[in-house]
This record gives sequence, C-alpha cells and structure tokens, in this order.
Amino acid sequence: MMLHIGLDDTDSPNGMCTTYLGALLYREISRLAEPLDLPKLIRLNPNVPYKTRGNGAVAMSFEADEEDVPKIKNLVLEFVEELADLTHENTNPGVVFLEGEIPEELTEFTYRAIWEHISIEEAEKVAKDVDAEIYKFKLGRGIVGALAAIGHPLKEFTYELLAYRKRRLWGTPRKVNRESVFEMDRQFYPFTYDNVDPYKGSVLITPHGKDPVLVGIRGIDKNKVLLAFESITIEEPLEFYQIFKTNQSTDEHLRFKKIADLKQFDNAVIKAKVVKSYWEKGRHVFFEVDDGTGRLRVAAFEPTKGFRRYVRMLIEGDEIIAAGGVKEFEGVLTLNLEKFYPVKLAKKIEYRKPKCPKCGGTMKSKGDYLKCKKCGYKMPKVLIPVEVPRKLQKKIYEVPPDARRHLSRPLVLPLGEEKILE
Ligand code: ATP
Repeated sequence: MMLHIGLDDTDSPNGMCTTYLGALLYREISRLAEPLDLPKLIRLNPNVPYKTRGNGAVAMSFEADEEDVPKIKNLVLEFVEELADLTHENTNPGVVFLEGEIPEELTEFTYRAIWEHISIEEAEKVAKDVDAEIYKFKLGRGIVGALAAIGHPLKEFTYELLAYRKRRLWGTPRKVNRESVFEMDRQFYPFTYDNVDPYKGSVLITPHGKDPVLVGIRGIDKNKVLLAFESITIEEPLEFYQIFKTNQSTDEHLRFKKIADLKQFDNAVIKAKVVKSYWEKGRHVFFEVDDGTGRLRVAAFEPTKGFRRYVRMLIEGDEIIAAGGVKEFEGVLTLNLEKFYPVKLAKKIEYRKPKCPKCGGTMKSKGDYLKCKKCGYKMPKVLIPVEVPRKLQKKIYEVPPDARRHLSRPLVLPLGEEKILE
C-alpha cells in the first residue's frame, strides 16, 4: 500500500530541523518499506509569522506492506516525540499520514499554503475530507505544513543536498573550508547556485544557527549537487547527508494580483505605476505605486543591500512589474520587493541654468534672478528643461542571494524570468 508521511514544525531557534528528523526517518523507514522517491522538502508561504527560518515542511512516500504500516506510523510518532524541541513555545509539531493516491483537493490545499495564510482548523477540515490521519503535538500547527508537503506534486523541482553534523558539535562553529566552497562554485555554478555571495565574498551553503545542518547545496542537477558536495573540504566528522527534491527556486509563491485584492501574508506580482519616488527610513528604501485599483507601499529592506541602488533610480511615472511578499510594516501594508522589471520608463527631466548669453560663463541663482559669475550679467531666472538618460535597463532586477527567499527563482536558472514576464 502507498503510505505518505508529512511532518512540520519540529524545530526552534535553539536547535533541531524538520529536514534532519525527516532524513533520519527516511533512512529508518527505508529498511521497512520501499521509498517511492527522494524525500520532499516543501517551502510554504514565506510570509507566515510562525516560521523558524524558511517555512519548510517534509514529506515522503513509501510502498509498504499493510502489516508494517502501524510499525512505521509508531516509529514516526516516537521520533517526533523524542527529537522535536517541544520545550519551545513556538514549536507545535504536526504529523500526517495518508494512504493511497493523493487527492486533488489536497494539492489545491498545498498551493493555498504556498500563497496564503491557513488556519489550523482549515487544515483539520481538509484532513478529514481527504481521509488523512493527523497527529498534533501541543497546538499542532505543523499539520498545515505536513499536509501541504504531502499534497505537493513537485512537477517542477530542484534539489538540495543537506549534510548533517554530529550531535556533539551542534552549536559549535561549522568547519567547512572556505576556499574549497569558492572553488566548487567556480566549477559547478549555475548547476549548483547560491553557494557563495560574490559581492560580499561570503559562503552561503553553511547556516549559522544551532541546528544540525552543516551545509546545504542547491542545484538543478542531482549528480552535480552530489559532485559539488564531494568536492568541498569538510574539516569535521559528518553524521550523514540526504538529497531532497524541493520546490525551492520555482517562484511558485508568486501570482499576479491587483493591489485592491492584496491581503496580509500574500505573495504577489503586480503591474503598477510609481506614484511616489523613493524615500529612506533607517537603511530601508520605500516608494509607492498605484495600479488603478489602489495604492501600495513597496520596500527594499536593508538586507537587500546593493539592490536598493536600482530601487532609488525609479521615478514617478515609471511603469513596473514588481514581485514580493505582502506584510504590514509599521501598520502599513507593504510589498517586500524580491524582483522588479521596468516596463516603461518615464522621461526624466532636470531643470538647468542656462549659460550666460553675453559671455558664456556660468550663472548663479540669486533669488528670482540669475547672475553670471564671470561678467556679472543679470537676467530673470528661467531654467531650461533637459532630458537626462535613465540608467535602469529593461531587465529584471533581483535581490542578492543571501536576501533571496527559498522559493524565489534565481534569474540565472532557465525560465528564471517566466513568472515575472508572462
Ligand atoms: P525550518 O525551515 O527550519 O524547518 P520553518 O521556518 O519551517 O523551520 P516551522 O517551525 O516549520 O518553521 O514553522 C512554520 C509553521 O507555520 C508550521 O507550523 C507550519 O505548519 C505553519 N504554516 C506553514 N505554511 C502556512 C500557511 N500558509 N499558513 C499558516 N501556517 C502555515
């Protein structure tokens, strides 16, 4: 019989990681039943407030003998009970089992969990409708992600290889040779990507928290991901590694929406006109757009670093396509920009002082008059409109790799522009 297992919300900033628990279970259950594919790492709506890091959930599918199913289910529940960080108030694990084919209704639920916010009660209702068995630990919010992960058909996918650390090393600095990662990137980019941040010169494959992950290598080719992993120099003993199939880098969180329809925690692509050019607060850069149905504040926050330079180049009248997550910031619904594309650039006019009509010298403003610095000639202040070239190009601008959402497709990948320009 086909058995699908989903789990989520087992970790906290103090440790653990749902992928680690999933990978351990995948290895254990593979002794009892036949895995139907690699385990799935499914990224859900990146805007939900409960996430620890990247809002990831894990699911896996097996062909199991009917008499082994209770044993497998017990194993999963025991692992979660034992390994999930249940002491943390924000950790509310959920486990889901589903037998047989995956119903269409569950796949619809998955996309809603990627696009919108879902309550625990809604998840419980869907579980009942599709005959899924749910187990809630504490609040059990994890059933949202666990169900959604099972329902994902992964028609489009990428890979991530996750290597895990020995337990005694959790929380200590990760020992991965920096130069070997840059060498790996030179050799395998873009088949594996987001390995390093070339602008900052930093390594991106190693996380920084107390979790069990040593490195995560993302890519579009399974063999290259493995070869890339084998090519880096790791200077600490490894527990094990697991390759996941994932919806990372697919842009599937983005949907075209009208500003009037946007809600808190949505993800959206909008087409609108800039109606207020940038202003800054702290190191964040903001501007405002209008698409005829409403006005919206757009933000390029500080972590987007050099991307903000291009945002500052937008002026009133520019027509753009903008993509990102919608969240309230200081009480105002704000689009947290991931990518933008200038569809039509407005003319940029600057008003400049004319040269002195008498001697060609430079004129200086004196109230309502202009006065030549050289010969002293005076004339009424009449400025000349001059069209200045725009520096923005007709291309998609994206945030740098370390500010990128897991679901965001890097432009370097095939079809990286599709969701924005379609
Ligand atoms: P990690 O990436 O390390 O696995 P995380 O960032 O995935 O951590 P979780 O601890 O899994 O964070 O917390 C996310 C919680 O939000 C889970 O309980 C999950 O079920 C829930 N959730 C996921 N998607 C949605 C959604 N669209 N609406 C409401 N809740 C959601």
